[in-house]
Amino acid sequence: ESLSNSFQNAINKIRFKDDEKALKRALDELKKSLLKADVHHKVVKELLSVVERETKLKGIGKENFLSALKNELTQILTAPGKQGFVYSSTPPTVVMMAGLQGSGKTTTSGKLAYYLKLRKKRVLLAAADLQRLAAVEQLRQIANQIEVDVFADESIKDPIEVAKQALAKAKDGNYDVLIVDTAGRLAIDNELMDEIKRVKEVLQPDEIFYVADSLTGQDAVRSAATFNKELSLTGVILSKYDGDSKGGVALGIAKQIGVPLRFIGSGEKMPDLEVFIPDRIVGRLMGAGDIESLAEKASAVIDEKEAKKVARKIKKGQFNFNDFLEQLEQMKKLGSLKSLIGMIPGLNKMAGALKDIDLENSSEIKKIKALISSMTPKERENPDLLNNSRKRRIAQGAGLSQMEVNKILKQFKNAAKMAKKFSGKKGMQDLQNLMS
Ligand code: GDP
Ligand code: MG
Repeated sequence: ESLSNSFQNAINKIRFKDDEKALKRALDELKKSLLKADVHHKVVKELLSVVERETKLKGIGKENFLSALKNELTQILTAPGKQGFVYSSTPPTVVMMAGLQGSGKTTTSGKLAYYLKLRKKRVLLAAADLQRLAAVEQLRQIANQIEVDVFADESIKDPIEVAKQALAKAKDGNYDVLIVDTAGRLAIDNELMDEIKRVKEVLQPDEIFYVADSLTGQDAVRSAATFNKELSLTGVILSKYDGDSKGGVALGIAKQIGVPLRFIGSGEKMPDLEVFIPDRIVGRLMGAGDIESLAEKASAVIDEKEAKKVARKIKKGQFNFNDFLEQLEQMKKLGSLKSLIGMIPGLNKMAGALKDIDLENSSEIKKIKALISSMTPKERENPDLLNNSRKRRIAQGAGLSQMEVNKILKQFKNAAKMAKKFSGKKGMQDLQNLMS
């Protein structure tokens, strides 16, 4: 049950101007959905009273209710402090990750390293979780996958020693950022806290990021509070904000802990990390989508020059099969489709219902790739060359029936046409209208 559905229900209850009863019903609906979303009852109570007061002040109506709610949510989510990633004035910027076991520390360390790598930073990852041997190997694999350097040494048995050596390596090697992954437990205990405090002492980190599993609701808020008391956190990263996340945990952390939310994890893959920006999250909570995050994410990943070239081609109707293959590669870098769909207005409600679509392994994509690989370079450049005899040859080469080839070519033609249509200035507007 996502917040957005209930928000929609709540606002739809206000149909008439100055209808106090309708406002009460809407507030009730909102209360239910907030509690269901694991928002602390005190936070709910305060939020409702502000929304009621502000709505009445401006006049009962759907618009005023909505804007009061939006303002108050933004207010709550804007805890004082830094936003996104902040580099220290003297590199390396040292980041220590903390959190309970399974919250997503190791994955998030990798995501953050990837985020910084895309921004042309030299990053060193360090494996200081020696509770589980597999954790060192897990980080090593992640580092290899994203092609970032890693300090991982199973022969060292003391996390404090790992921290010391990793810090020295980061300084000697002129790294911009050092990210240290640490151990977690199932519950907070003294031994864990002692260890992590000593790692902190050695590292003197610029940032201590607490990774909070947003699926664990109020538990995440409570343990964040304890970690904050012991370590003075500088930021919280909300992991697993995709899928079944109840969302309310973001409000709880901001309101009850007062540590700024810095990033959110929205999937299992390395690109699935976004800067936490309050009004964007409010937009998403309220079902308005998050085009801005989407655009930013896309622009960091997709080579800008390449994108412009393709856009020009689309406009001229010259989009060909080579471009298509390149686009497919770029798409893969964007991470799970599900997390992207969640950001598009009108489609975000669908996101939860969708299984992750695997671009690489979908049978449709495989067919298209086979078809393209059976084409000559000239044919790839110019789809108009494809007459019947060429199509027969391609079908044979790709192991497809002629009907399948015709179908794919037709789809491709339509897609190119659609892309051309939406590539103009009015294009995005049209697309949004189409989806809403
Ligand atoms: P750690 O014990 O804190 O280091 O946790 P891990 O990094 O090993 O993550 C535990 C599990 O959560 C793994 O299966 C991850 O793939 C998964 N995970 C981490 N972050 C996210 C996220 O943002 N979304 C989803 N869906 N899964 C995540
Ligand atoms: Mg781990």
